[in-house]
Amino acid sequence: MKRLGILGSTGSIGANSLQVVEALREEFEVTYLASHSNLDLLWQQAQMFRPKAAALVQPAHSLNGATEELRRRFAALGVELLLGSEGLIELASRDDVEVVVNAIVGSAGLPVTLRALENGVTLALANKETLVVAGELVTQTAKRTGATLIPIDSEHSALWQCLCGERIDRIERVIITASGGPFREWPNEAFDKITLADALKHPNWNMGRKITIDSATLMNKGLEVIEAHWLFALPLAKISVLVHPQSIVHSMVEFVDGSIKAQLGLPDMRLPIQYALTYPDRLPNNFPRLDFARRHTLTFHEPDLEKFTCLKLALQALTEGGTAPAVLNAANEEAVDAFLNERVRFVQIPQIISEALGQHRNGRAHDFEAVMAADQWSRAFVQQYLSN
Ligand code: NAD
Ligand code: MG
Repeated sequence: MKRLGILGSTGSIGANSLQVVEALREEFEVTYLASHSNLDLLWQQAQMFRPKAAALVQPAHSLNGATEELRRRFAALGVELLLGSEGLIELASRDDVEVVVNAIVGSAGLPVTLRALENGVTLALANKETLVVAGELVTQTAKRTGATLIPIDSEHSALWQCLCGERIDRIERVIITASGGPFREWPNEAFDKITLADALKHPNWNMGRKITIDSATLMNKGLEVIEAHWLFALPLAKISVLVHPQSIVHSMVEFVDGSIKAQLGLPDMRLPIQYALTYPDRLPNNFPRLDFARRHTLTFHEPDLEKFTCLKLALQALTEGGTAPAVLNAANEEAVDAFLNERVRFVQIPQIISEALGQHRNGRAHDFEAVMAADQWSRAFVQQYLSN
C-alpha cells in the first residue's frame, strides 16, 4: 500500500487522481486531502476515502464561526480537520506518506512542493508554476534530500517515460507538443473579439479554469518549456515546441543518434497521474484506449509566436533567467484572474505580462524569499496597472 497525500484534491487534477486511486484501491491509501475552499466536495471526498486528515485552506474567519462544528463533523468520520494555510503546510510537512500529489494551482503551491521535498517523500507534481517560479530552488532541494520529483503534466510525463533507461547527455533535443488551443486557426485580427466563453472552450482537454486560459494564450506551453528546462536540466536551445492539434503524441525526445522516441495515448490526465503514482511500475486499467486502426492523421506544425505572444514572453523570461520567470508567472496569474472576472480582454493578457517584465529589476532566484518577493512585486504591479 502506498500512502498518498493529495493536495488540491477538489480540482481537476485532484479529482482525476482520486479516480485513479478508486480504480486501484488495493494499491493506494489516501492519507491526506486538501482544498482551498470547496468544503462540500472535500466533505464528500473525506466520506469516500476516510483520510487521516483534511485541510481547508480558506481563512478560518470566512467560515463565520462554524469551525468547531466543522471539526466535529470531520472528527465523527475519524478525519482530523486542519484550517488555513498553516494547516496545509502542516500536512505537507508530515512524513507518514510515500507520495505527495501537488495538484494546487499557481505559485501558492510552492511551499507545499518545498515541504514535501524537504521531507524526502516522492512528489508527484502537477503544479508546474512551482518549477517556473523557483526551478533552481526546487531542483536543488530535491538533489539535497534525495527526494524524487515525478511530473504529472502530460508532456513531461511523456518525456520522463521516453527517458527511462536513457542518458540525459545523449539528448539532442526534446519536442514538447501543444494542442494549439481553441484559437489555433483564428486570424490575428479576430483576437480582439475573443470572449471568456470562447477561451474556456478547450478542444481536447477538460481542465481547471486557469490552465484552460493558459492553453488558449499558449502561456501554458511557455510554462511547460520552463518546467522541462528545470526537470531535465536542458538549455532552451534543446527544447522545442510543436503544435499537434490531435493531442495524441504527448511529447518526444530526439537523441544524438537521430532516433526519436515518443509517448502516445488518448488525452486523459488519469494516464500520467497513474504513471506518477505507480512509477517505476505500470499497472493495468480500464481507461479508453488509443486505436490506431480508427485514428486518422497526426499533424504537426510550428507555433506562431507573433500570434501567441505569451509563449514568446515565457521564452524570453527563461532566457533572462533569475527572477524573470517568477515575475512572468505572477503577472500571468493576475492577468488571467482579471480576464476570468471579465476585467480585461484576452489580448490584454500578454500586454500586462510584457509591462511587468519590462518594469521589473531582475535578481537572483536562489531562495524562497527572493522568489516570493518577485512574485509579490509582480502581483502588486499588475494590480496597480489594472487600477489605472
Ligand atoms: P483546478 O483549479 O481545477 O484545481 C486547483 C486545486 O487547488 C483545487 O483543489 C483548489 O482548492 C486548490 N487551490 C487553489 N488555490 C489554492 C491555494 N491558494 N492553496 C491551496 N490550494 C489551493 O486546477 P487544475 O486544472 O486541477 O490544475 C492544478 C495544477 O495542475 C495547475 O498547476 C495546472 O497547471 C496543472 N495541470 C493541470 C492539468 C489538467 O488537466 N487540469 C494538466 C496538467 C497540469
Ligand atoms: Mg501539459
